[in-house]
Amino acid sequence: MRRLAAALSIALAGALAHAAPTPRVTASVSKGHPNSGKLSGGKRWTNTKWARQRPGRAGSWGTPEMVRLLQSSAHKVAGKHPRSVLMIGDLSAREGGPLPGHHSHQSGRDADVGFYLRDSRDRHVVLERFVAIDQHGDARGDKRVHFDDARNWELVAAWLGDGRVEVRGVFVAGWLKARLLRRAEEARAPKTLIERAQMLLMQPPNAESHDDHFHLRIACAAGQRGVCFDDSIDRAPRSPGGLSSPSGAIE
Ligand SMILES: [Zn+2]
Repeated sequence: MRRLAAALSIALAGALAHAAPTPRVTASVSKGHPNSGKLSGGKRWTNTKWARQRPGRAGSWGTPEMVRLLQSSAHKVAGKHPRSVLMIGDLSAREGGPLPGHHSHQSGRDADVGFYLRDSRDRHVVLERFVAIDQHGDARGDKRVHFDDARNWELVAAWLGDGRVEVRGVFVAGWLKARLLRRAEEARAPKTLIERAQMLLMQPPNAESHDDHFHLRIACAAGQRGVCFDDSIDRAPRSPGGLSSPSGAIE
């Protein structure tokens, strides 16, 4: 009897070992590339006290991971700086695909995010439009409004330190990246976080300066490899390392 039980358990273990892995069932799928893709089962953006979408946006849908990351990061910043409001731009269309005014934003994993702004007395400024920031950190055409180094760094730190979602890139102009890294040093951010920021904050070549918003791109969910591709279809020459440059990946 004992031998029979042992034989059965070996047979069962063998059967389990050869069984195909059960695909993770997720309601939402990001299909294809950021600049040639679709979204199914996306999550609709909803405004909260700490994060609002600019009115009249066509793209209000993202993967659940993207919507959660935007909400949780804004919530975190508002936790440190009460009454902060993050202004969100386009995500993706309900079923993904081309979105007017964008190359990417097709598969639910891209979001445009306005900068946190402050006035000259360090009071938080909420505007329902994106504001371009010059090399001095001032709003172009309005010297009373400034890039808020502290809040914007905390936002980036919340994205990169999320732990549940992998950030693929944060597109932003070079001079704003420099401000953010300077702030990170001042705030004594962990070295590994600063190194990740150094790598993931980037001004994509062949794109207009990202001087009035962040463009956040997250990686494919682990269970969707094979149908979901992290980066845009490469229109640029490949780097020697064989990695596709994110240069095709223009907002
Ligand atoms: Zn964008």
